[in-house]
Order: sequence, then structure tokens, then C-alpha cells
Amino acid sequence: MTNNALPEHGQPWDALEARMREMAQGDVKWRDGRTGLYIFNAGEDVARVKKAAYAMFSEENGLGPAAFPSIAQMERDVVSFGLALLNAPAGAAGAMTSGGTDSIVMAVKAARDHARAKRGLTAGLNIVAPTTVHPAFDKAGMMMDIEIRRVPVKDFLADPAAMEAAIDSNTLMIVGSAPCFPFGLIDPIEALGELAERKKVWLHVDACVGGYIAPFVRMNGVDLPPFDFAIAGVSSISGDLHKYGYASKGASTVFFRTQEMRDCMTFDAGPWPLGRMVTPTLAGTRPGGAIAAAWAVTQFLGVEGYREKQRQVTEARAKIEMGVAKLGFRVLGAPQLGIISFAHEKADALALYAKMHHRGWFTAALIDPKALHLMLSPKHNDVAHEYLADLEASLAEVLGGATDQMTARYAH
Ligand SMILES: *Cc1c(COP(=O)(O)O)cnc(C)c1O
Repeated sequence: MTNNALPEHGQPWDALEARMREMAQGDVKWRDGRTGLYIFNAGEDVARVKKAAYAMFSEENGLGPAAFPSIAQMERDVVSFGLALLNAPAGAAGAMTSGGTDSIVMAVKAARDHARAKRGLTAGLNIVAPTTVHPAFDKAGMMMDIEIRRVPVKDFLADPAAMEAAIDSNTLMIVGSAPCFPFGLIDPIEALGELAERKKVWLHVDACVGGYIAPFVRMNGVDLPPFDFAIAGVSSISGDLHKYGYASKGASTVFFRTQEMRDCMTFDAGPWPLGRMVTPTLAGTRPGGAIAAAWAVTQFLGVEGYREKQRQVTEARAKIEMGVAKLGFRVLGAPQLGIISFAHEKADALALYAKMHHRGWFTAALIDPKALHLMLSPKHNDVAHEYLADLEASLAEVLGGATDQMTARYAH
């Protein structure tokens, strides 16, 4: 037996809770707003609701709608809310999944089965997407033997003309993001929709990180380009509840323009000794807690609550945008939501990243092009000035360091 084996005697919760708190000591200080990645901190009120709802239904299983009509109802409510938010036409349909990757893989599966049925496409399929789309598409491609053709972007946005040139008769799907994760920019979905209609291919809009913020930012008066089902060529959209929906982790949504498209996602598997197993998505067991928490948070916030939380996010982004510009950074593109990337001509982004990490900030960085990256939450509106002060100090260190190195080089 190794030291890691299960203990012979169980331990009381009090002792375990203390040990778990101790384990969390080394985690990033996300409650203070010092992460720009992984966490969507909408404050204590939302946190209380999602935890309580999750705990209340943590044993229930979304696999069994007949056994748990409660969970089935909550999923229907959440899906209807998302469809309405994304301007879905009558007859559109959707489902909850465990996350953005799950939603994307399921959309690709639906598109593939739809193309098999409608276009007779069988093997050698490809998906045409800008370089900025999430690697979830590559994962789907690996699983379903579909080539992912990444096409260079223009001014950080999907380039419809270049994408058109990459489309051939085996193209199953084209993709745009609303927004893409690297730059937080909404691709020209209208032009992609026109392209999809002309080429008769499926257009998926990856709104994993935008689906539950962009509609509210628009309601708050920001002039966003169209990106949802309002564009006729859009076949499916992914939107993550566990991002700017502020739900507990393990909750996303995938939407389809028609029920027929949605039905292409269904797995009808077996038979085995229990007969056939029919599930809307890949999952068997589905966490009642994640569905319940998503339902509770959406009901708790309502349109007004979301508008206020998302206003805090865009306000934080505007503060940081102004602050970094003052420090001499260049913002990549013109972000309108909660993600921002920026680079400094004279300071190496990865050196800055290291300095900021040392000051307790856990964020992302881009390597191509090199830039700092932030994904902001309502909480960041309280700490934007701290971030900027630390960035100013880090920048001075990096620039000073560069000068020192240069002096040293010239001294030889
Ligand atoms: C987060 C994200 C995904 C993947 O979602 P997960 O929930 O992490 O699986 C896909 N696309 C975009 C644009 C994202 O931001």
C-alpha cells in the first residue's frame, strides 16, 4: 500500500474541511479579483445562490427527465432563456451541456450527421475557421476525423474572403467567434452568414464566452455587430453559462436554428440488455447541481441583474483600456465585451507577465502576437486601479531591465 491509498478509517467532515482549506492556500487569490482567467466573479450574492442551488440538487441526475421533472423543467427554462437572448426563430431548439468544449463537439456532431443526411457527405470532411477559434474544434476534428483548416485573420478578425478560398465541396462547417478568446473581438458574422448561405455550409457561431454577455452589453447601449440567429446563415451557437452567465462550472448551452438540426445531435445507441439508450448529448449522467445552479442564477439576476453585472465588466474593461493606453500599450483591435489584449512596443509581454505574476496576478498571455490578456469579471471593476498600478511598476522594471542589459552590452 502506498501513502496515497484510501485511509483505512474515514475522517469526520470538520477535519476534512480544514485540510481542504489548507490545500486551497496555494491557489490563486481569485476572491480578491487577482485572476483574469478561469474565474467569473460576480460577487457574493450570486455565489450564495449558485452554491445553495447546486447543493440542493447535487444528487439529482439530468439523465432521467421522467424521474426528475424538476431538472427537466429547469433545463427547458434555461434553454428558452438562451434562445430568446440570441434572437432564435420559432422552432429553434437547444440543450444544456457540461461546458463550451462539449457544446462545440456536439454542434460539430450535429452538423456532420446533418451533412450526411442532407448532402451525402461521408468522408474527408473539413471545417474552415479563423486561426483564433478555440481548440475545442480541433478536439472535435480529432474525434470525428474532420480536418480543421485554420485561416489567417485580418486585423485580428475572421477574413471571409480568405475563408471562402479555403472552402471546398467537402467543407462541412465554417466558424466565427463572438467573441474569440484571444482578442475578445466579434468576428464579422454577418459576412460569414452570407458566405455560409452562398456555399450551403453550416455556420457555427462560438459564443461560448460571449453568448451571455453580448446581448446585455447591447441592451446597455453599445453598438455591437450582429452575431446571433438574427443572421439567416447561422445554424448553431454555443454559449457558456459557467462563463458570463455566472453559473457554477459544468453548465453550457448549444442552440440550433431548427429542431431537425437539433435532432442530428441525438445519440440513439445500443441495443444492450436495457434496450436502446437515447440521449440528447454525449453525456449519460448529467449533474443536477449544475443545471439547478444555472437555473437559479439566471432567475436570480434576470435581465436587470445581468445588465448591471455586465455593465460592471465593460466599465472595468474601459478603465483598463484607458489605463494601459496611457502606459504606452496598444490594444489589439477594438474589444467591446469583457476580454482585452494589449502589447507594448518596447516591453516583452512575457517578461511583463512574469512581473505581474510575481505581484499576485494570474492572467493569460498571448504568444502570437505576444501580448497580455485579461478576461474581466464584475469584481475587476473594484480592482482595475490596483492592476494598473502594478502594471505600471512592472513596466518600469521591464523597461529598466532592458536599459540595463543594453548598457551592459554596449560596455563591452
Ligand atoms: C471557454 C471557451 C470555449 C471552451 O469552453 P470550456 O467550457 O472551457 O470547455 C470555447 N470557445 C470559446 C470562445 C471560449 O472562450
